[in-house]
Amino acid sequence: MTTVPVSFILDDGGPVNMYHFHDLATWHELIIPPAFLREFSKVCKRNNIMGKFSVVPMPAGLGRLDGKVTQVPTPIVKQYIKLIKEQIEPVFSITPEILTHYLAYKKPVLENLYISSCTEDEITEYISLALEILKNTGLNPTGVTSPWDAGMRNEDHYARGIGRAFRKIMNVDECFYFLHSSGDDLVKPVVMFDTPETGKVISVPNNIHDAFWPTQNPVTARQARQNVKKNIDEILSPDGKTGLMREFFEQGLPIVFISHWQSLYSDGRCIGLEGLDALTQRMNKVFGKQIEWMPMMELAKNHAGKRK
Ligand SMILES: [Zn+2]
Repeated sequence: MTTVPVSFILDDGGPVNMYHFHDLATWHELIIPPAFLREFSKVCKRNNIMGKFSVVPMPAGLGRLDGKVTQVPTPIVKQYIKLIKEQIEPVFSITPEILTHYLAYKKPVLENLYISSCTEDEITEYISLALEILKNTGLNPTGVTSPWDAGMRNEDHYARGIGRAFRKIMNVDECFYFLHSSGDDLVKPVVMFDTPETGKVISVPNNIHDAFWPTQNPVTARQARQNVKKNIDEILSPDGKTGLMREFFEQGLPIVFISHWQSLYSDGRCIGLEGLDALTQRMNKVFGKQIEWMPMMELAKNHAGKRK
């Protein structure tokens, strides 16, 4: 029996709630506590969830995770790293979401805009710093996540820079990156480069949007639960016969679905995380052994096609 690979993307991970900085019009707590990471890990274990987990190495430019992050007590940073290492890394590929996911390091522009003006050498250097920070914490990144659309306008430089940074810092010949989202032309992983300088660099797109995003302030808890129910049903109907996931499954395409740390946290109400629990229970019930959960690096390695 052939199985359809499934991988879950978690973006914006780490102790700092990136939406505190990205959405200034609404109040969002600065810190997402380590206790929430424990709850997330329980949901993943219960439903066999595997995929990719982003860690922002220098969140919003507040400081480095391998040193001091201002406004976040060091024991919280340390607990996060320990929990990610023990509970998450065995089943999720770890990626930096490049460096700050806010204003670029030492530059007055947002990171995605900065990257789009960079040369391949500059990108290599920038991503090397992100990898070095995670490596210093004891984590073992195997890919890169793009903050917003970083790299979209100069993707060849970007992909080559990623490969060279992995060569230099992690000493490996293979890596992946996540940039392309649902709605874009790319629907399955593709090898972007495989050269002596870059090693093999694979682009992995997601094909199903974040069902749990509208659970954050200012949405009320009641409305948030309604939004989750509606979005989950659109992705996979309760009887499993319709929905985006069913369509991808029938086409034999990998199922790659996404959420964000802040959407699962839902400003302390954890309504998104309840939703992830419900959606993945449904997936396992509907598809059973016809799907195979895997870390994103494994999906990249075993299911990437040639570049057109
Ligand atoms: Zn992000």
